Amino acid sequence: MTHYLDNAATTRVRPGALEAMLPLFTETYGNPSGAHRMARLANHALDDARDAVAVATGAEPGQVVFTGGGTEADALAIRGVIDAAGGVPVTTAIEHHAVLDPVTHLGGRVVPVAADGRIDLDALEATLTEVAATGDTVSVVSIMTANNETGVIQPLRETVEVVRRSAPDAAVHTDAVQALCWVDLAEAAATVDLLSISAHKFGGPKGTGALIVRNGVTLAPLLRGGGQERDRRGGTQNVAGIAGMAAAASETVAERSAALGRVTALRDRLIEGIRGAVDGVHESGVGADADRSHKTANIAHLCFEGIESEALLFLLEKNDIMASAASSCASGAQEPSHVLAAMGVPRHLAAGSLRLSLGYDSTEADVDAVLDVLPGAVARLRGQG
Ligand code: PLP
Repeated sequence: MTHYLDNAATTRVRPGALEAMLPLFTETYGNPSGAHRMARLANHALDDARDAVAVATGAEPGQVVFTGGGTEADALAIRGVIDAAGGVPVTTAIEHHAVLDPVTHLGGRVVPVAADGRIDLDALEATLTEVAATGDTVSVVSIMTANNETGVIQPLRETVEVVRRSAPDAAVHTDAVQALCWVDLAEAAATVDLLSISAHKFGGPKGTGALIVRNGVTLAPLLRGGGQERDRRGGTQNVAGIAGMAAAASETVAERSAALGRVTALRDRLIEGIRGAVDGVHESGVGADADRSHKTANIAHLCFEGIESEALLFLLEKNDIMASAASSCASGAQEPSHVLAAMGVPRHLAAGSLRLSLGYDSTEADVDAVLDVLPGAVARLRGQG
């Protein structure tokens, strides 16, 4: 039996999402921009999906722009503002590359985080003031809702307060790609200007996402042509994928409070079980008090002294446990994760990182399997087993 503990990478498609998608491939497959009955039916499916995504994200239907996933939603938020308004983008050092790369490519500024993985708000304020002093304008500030490696949740409201005070012309974007399952986005949507989601992180299909664009924010489209999405994203919509995303979003939100309790208990049993059985384990972004209230319910992120992630993942996979190190391995050379580096985790510890991420369908048996296998695997790699 396979134990899938990589839900931060992607999730199993929910049965309700699959059911919503199937007829749109084979029956109601008209082009939603067309004029005949089949086209109108596809367009109705798109309207229904837009309503559902708006409800799930605390937005209005007209604010939902469908995209080809989270990376595109992030790029549209950042590039879209800069292309329309000019100015400088600002972000944090622990963002996903989908945000970090466009910001650095556009000559933007990157703000540090504290050891617990949360943004340094004084440094943000100083950066915003510094940019203003040079005569430039900060036009977009992007801060993720929850981190994909560590699960650390950012202080969004406080960040927005600093931005409104020190860079009143800036739009605030949040990459909420990892958040919909575990964080109520209604508050975020009410305070920020732009918010990204991605369907495959919450039981929807890959390659489908949305950017919520608050009224009054002007974006230049990344893709022109066709006039779809009210000229904000050209191209025939992925109607089936979007309907799947909407069904998955509705189910996720309806089940969220029950899932939070269940998955938090699974995660805590997982972490406490590992810590009880293995020495030299460090939990990322968590101090000696083991307070995880600033983390999402689903991610256990641990660094093991004296081992390499790659070797540990190999032993876990041999025992049918799918996990990840959450460190990027671009050119084959194992580079420590930029997220851990930004949090000040020493290189030798970051080299032994492990991300176990739970999802809506994770079970006690998944936790049992890790607790059975992991202590022996770590001992073996340390030459103790
Ligand atoms: N942002 C975050 C925080 C993510 O975790 C991911 C995916 O790993 C993305 C953006 C990119 O989303 P997508 O895979 O839909 O392009």
